Amino acid sequence: MHLLRLERQSTVRVKILGSAAGGGVPQWNCDCCNCVAARSGAGPRRLVASLAVCAHDDRWVLVNASCDIGLQINETRELQPRASRSSPIVALLVTDANIDHTAGILEFRQADTFSIHSTTVVKQTLCKHPMFSQFERNNKRWHAFESGIRVRLQLPEAPQLSVYAIAVPGLLPSYAGAARTDGAAVAYIFEHEGKKVVYAPIFLTVNDNLRHEMELADAVLLDGTCWSDDEMIELGLGARTSRAMGHAPIGGPDGSLQIASDLRARQRYYTHINNSNPILDPASAEAQQLRDAGLAVVSDGLELELDGDTAHI
Ligand SMILES: [Zn+2]
Ligand SMILES: [Zn+2]
Repeated sequence: MHLLRLERQSTVRVKILGSAAGGGVPQWNCDCCNCVAARSGAGPRRLVASLAVCAHDDRWVLVNASCDIGLQINETRELQPRASRSSPIVALLVTDANIDHTAGILEFRQADTFSIHSTTVVKQTLCKHPMFSQFERNNKRWHAFESGIRVRLQLPEAPQLSVYAIAVPGLLPSYAGAARTDGAAVAYIFEHEGKKVVYAPIFLTVNDNLRHEMELADAVLLDGTCWSDDEMIELGLGARTSRAMGHAPIGGPDGSLQIASDLRARQRYYTHINNSNPILDPASAEAQQLRDAGLAVVSDGLELELDGDTAHI
């Protein structure tokens, strides 16, 4: 028992706080079959995609914070305070400036000290608004970095974790004009004791940078927003294609599944799933195609654990 505990503490821990795209599953104003199934209990409810990563020392780094972040923290023992007005959460990394990845930053306004990391473009996009620019003052720090092939982040709060930001093709959010812009989106890589996890919940295409990182990873969590580019339009749920929202579709000849199915990583998941996506129904042909390719839809609350030799759940 003690040995198990010791080994557990020596590995990087990765917890899935949420696995849905903006709106969650079910979405408050939707009665599509996936939302109806989640509301009735026939399928799992999903909070908006977010990740928590810890190396060794009980200090956690989050990636992206939606309006669900308070609920996610309250449902995750490891993220809860050990003393009054304290938190084991030491930093928040954001992949882009979309509302569903950043609105939860405002939940951290009560923090005495807080550290956010994003590209300069993402910081500038958000901090035009004073609600976000308050995170540059007092003991709150917003570290901006220029987007690049592989940018090492300095996280003094989590020194045993190596974190890199990987430039991926992306769009600014619709509220900021939706232009394709360098620095609009990044993926994050976590490395610890020879293990590598790729978290890429938003990308317009799988570029060579991202593909290279995915090929070397032990675990990948990929943008699974839509199965097909015109899914939202076909279902009458929206007017924009998946790509117009900055997300590569999973299926089709140039979808991400083509690449993801060839990876060596034993843990290969889609996350950030929109409630329109047929992979949420395990009986769908698309869900079967995913399973045949060796991938799965990740679940809220799942913890990936990467131990000394093999990656396993
Ligand atoms: Zn999103
Ligand atoms: Zn729905």
